[in-house]
Amino acid sequence: MTRKLIVFDLDETLVYASLKWLPNRKHDFRFKEYYIYKRDGVDYLLHILHATGYETGIFSAAQREYVLKITTELYKPHKFRPLFVLSGEDCESKRMHAWTEDKTGIISLRTMTYHTIKPLQKIHRLTKIPLCRILIVDDLPLNSAQNADQYVQIATFDPEQNPTPDPWLYKLAEYLTEIISQQTTLCESSHQSWFKQVT
Ligand SMILES: [Mg+2]
Repeated sequence: MTRKLIVFDLDETLVYASLKWLPNRKHDFRFKEYYIYKRDGVDYLLHILHATGYETGIFSAAQREYVLKITTELYKPHKFRPLFVLSGEDCESKRMHAWTEDKTGIISLRTMTYHTIKPLQKIHRLTKIPLCRILIVDDLPLNSAQNADQYVQIATFDPEQNPTPDPWLYKLAEYLTEIISQQTTLCESSHQSWFKQVT
């Protein structure tokens, strides 16, 4: 069987970490002073992906100790494990410019910031899975700016701001199982149009 890999971000994608105990939602576990809330449908999604032949991996920009603890907890109810767990140390930093134009039309440099990038090439080197069979699911488009064809955006999970049930991981499960039944590669789909359709 052809290998296919889904790489998940953690914060605001699969979980939400808060220093606050939320009155309307039971936390799933703790990490140090944080209450960790699993997104609705996490267990279902991981189960379905495994059952349909996807492999999964974790790539978070957070610190390693946190990422390992959250990943261990997320996979606890399952008999399978992620292929890899990558954290902030595995990210790359990209310099980004913001330009501005004055009244006369002269463009000048306004700000320069460093942005965290999750390099898919690293995942390819690590797993030997071709890039066209890898998708990264993340709530922040900039994190995957270099990997537009392999990127599936998902709405930000924030139960503090929005305590209503969150349907995204169920929709994602449906979408990913649908494309696995149709295609040999994953980057042929227009994942951006899926995101627009759902929102
Ligand atoms: Mg995130």
